[in-house]
Amino acid sequence: MFVYHAKLTGCRTEVLSKHKHNEPLPETVLRVKALESLLVEKGLVDPAALDELIDTYETRIGPRNGAKVVARAWVDPAYRDRLLSDASAAIAEFGFTGRQGEDMVVVENTPQVHNMVVCTLCSCYPWPVLGLPPVWYKSAPYRARVVAEPRAVLAEFGYTLADDVEIRVWDSTAEVRYLVLPMRPAGTQDLDEELLAELVTRDAMIGTGLPRSPRA
Ligand code: FE
Repeated sequence: MFVYHAKLTGCRTEVLSKHKHNEPLPETVLRVKALESLLVEKGLVDPAALDELIDTYETRIGPRNGAKVVARAWVDPAYRDRLLSDASAAIAEFGFTGRQGEDMVVVENTPQVHNMVVCTLCSCYPWPVLGLPPVWYKSAPYRARVVAEPRAVLAEFGYTLADDVEIRVWDSTAEVRYLVLPMRPAGTQDLDEELLAELVTRDAMIGTGLPRSPRA
């Protein structure tokens, strides 16, 4: 069973573009593509370097912030309580603030409940803690299927949960961005906060994955 928390109320990216949620940004996208081709053509940027830059923000710098928050919550019960009761303030203790992270809610995985995050309307995502959203997060199939068949989606990411684990799917909106607080992996009693943070993957904080095992 899963619970679908629908809050179809919009998206902050409208401030930038006034785009409708189901539509791409034709003019902006075209302008960016034109600019990129021109820069590449003139030899001013290397396309591989651009890809590298995007990958850095998508998978390294951004999610490392979220990983620090998660690791702190694992080692500090008082911090965990603050994170669950007022996530924006608790995350701001690290200095992680700014656009798309103003109104954060952290949802905690337990042995009974697994949380997954989506933006069914477009690509709302908590930038200050996760960086840029991955391409699949913005894709129509993920946005539609995670709501209808979260277990199947999770399986495609390589994770299977016991049948009695409830899956809750949280729909990001203009008002609220979600971060999943995954369960601390077994066998990590001896690890300090810094080493624990290394186990926290981006996907574990979206709910499409789980933290790494310390043995891996
Ligand atoms: Fe959105």
